[in-house]
Amino acid sequence: MPGFARWVLIATLAAVPAHAQIDPRGALLERTGWEAIAAGQGAAAAKAFREALAADPKNARLHLGAGMAAALERRDEDARDSFERALTLDPKLIRARVLLGQVQYRLGALADAIRTYEQLIADAPDDLDAPAALERWRREADLHDRMQRAIGTHFTVSFEGPAEAELAAQALESLDRAYWRIGPLLGVYPSDPIPVVLYTSEQFRDITRSPAWAAGAYDGTIRVPMRGALDQSAELDRVLAHEFTHALVRTLASRNVPTWLNEGLATALEGSDLEWARKDVRAAGGAAPLDALRSGFGRFSGEQAQVAYATSALAVKRMLDEAGGVAVANLLRDLGGGADFDSAFLHRMQRSFADFQAGAAF
Ligand SMILES: [Zn+2]
Repeated sequence: MPGFARWVLIATLAAVPAHAQIDPRGALLERTGWEAIAAGQGAAAAKAFREALAADPKNARLHLGAGMAAALERRDEDARDSFERALTLDPKLIRARVLLGQVQYRLGALADAIRTYEQLIADAPDDLDAPAALERWRREADLHDRMQRAIGTHFTVSFEGPAEAELAAQALESLDRAYWRIGPLLGVYPSDPIPVVLYTSEQFRDITRSPAWAAGAYDGTIRVPMRGALDQSAELDRVLAHEFTHALVRTLASRNVPTWLNEGLATALEGSDLEWARKDVRAAGGAAPLDALRSGFGRFSGEQAQVAYATSALAVKRMLDEAGGVAVANLLRDLGGGADFDSAFLHRMQRSFADFQAGAAF
């Protein structure tokens, strides 16, 4: 998830001092809100902007702040609504339009995101990032328009041409196997079909901007580069099971999930054998501390990423063995609901996180 760090950066840049206010308490609340956003504290920022808005509901800037707080907390629908309200009150509030487009894209509303950025470029022709993003989104929309769909009960698989039809059918079968293997383990069965898109390697890099080592991506849609996977059905199963597990995690918790837990679960459940992970961790001289693996792995080199995934997979495997899949699913639900990590871990795993980490015998 490379998006998150970017949000914080954007938030910091947008924390501009407001013009003089008449109400000193409102001004104080607004400043508290911007400072919380700059510090990446979504909940504190949301509270400050909510209180400020109660006294000054027609202030576009406060709606912008509320939207940014919601985006930090991954409450994307709320964020979209706040940015839209800000723009209704002040159509020239450029920052709100920039973020509205990004959040629409994150919600999978590609056509809306494109319209928002068309307007943005008309309003702010000097914006340096918008034209490139708009181009990329248009390419994605064109490609998806061209694609065909294979519809299953739990998944829809989009693919480019008749040449990929066989592969799409195979992917659908593989995904169904993952659904019935991993769903029962965690006790989670998503009711809406999960969208899956099969890309060429080039399309995949272009659209997801994933690091070179990524074999798939999940952002509400499972995106997979095919890379001749047809002749390697074990690899296809592995990648699809991994991304499907991310979809299950998102069903349980849309926020507050440490990356090691998310990636560890996806990696532990993608296949049966973790011997490679033990070997990698031994070769690296030991496991990485889980606290260092809380945020995205996109910043790592291929080699660092390998150890990060191996460490995460072994940690989560131990949680699954000790407490069971349903307990891990409940932990995710608690985190998504805003629970503090250490308390939720203690409650669901029946041991403290510090104790769990100290006992890491890889
Ligand atoms: Zn992953």
